[in-house]
Amino acid sequence: MIKPDIVVFDLGKVLLDFDYSIAARKIAAQATLPLAEIQKMFDHTPLLYRYETGLMTQAEFFEAVQQITGFQGTSEEFSSFFADIFWEIPKMVELHATLRQRGVPTYIFSNTNDLAILHIRRNFPFFANFDGYILSYEVRAMKPDPRIYEALEELSGKRGPEILYLDDRQENVDGGAARGWQVILQTDPAHSRSLVEGLGLLN
Ligand SMILES: [Mg+2]
Repeated sequence: MIKPDIVVFDLGKVLLDFDYSIAARKIAAQATLPLAEIQKMFDHTPLLYRYETGLMTQAEFFEAVQQITGFQGTSEEFSSFFADIFWEIPKMVELHATLRQRGVPTYIFSNTNDLAILHIRRNFPFFANFDGYILSYEVRAMKPDPRIYEALEELSGKRGPEILYLDDRQENVDGGAARGWQVILQTDPAHSRSLVEGLGLLN
């Protein structure tokens, strides 16, 4: 094991927890489609995939949601409902701050969309404190597509075991491990912290 040069964080379920059912309930209150169907729309549907791969604009996404759900509210209402689903995982935000104090460069590496990122920038100050951001909708590729991993390597100038990567999804960490990155499958924050510590990054 070599000590990694940089630490790459997935966002959802690593630094921020989220629950799409919060959005689904607010949208359902102004829509014709039943709540359970609206919930399904957010669970890895082709629609969300297209939006988060940057193949669809925010306006096109809103139009599609209107058509599918019969949502009667405004685009602004939809945007705030859709994006306001996150809360911090304090131990992980703290781990990130400690890495910064130790001078370790850090990166965000996320399958996400512009509405979520706008909301997160406004509401979570820690999000400003990374050396770089690789976001699926900007790169037009979603993890575990190798193209998004290449984008992270290009941006950081790091390769293989120089990179430590934390993600809560097995297929995503597998994508990193396949490139020789050191990986941590996040299950609980205390476990992730102890693994990061074991690599000598908190000394
Ligand atoms: Mg995640």
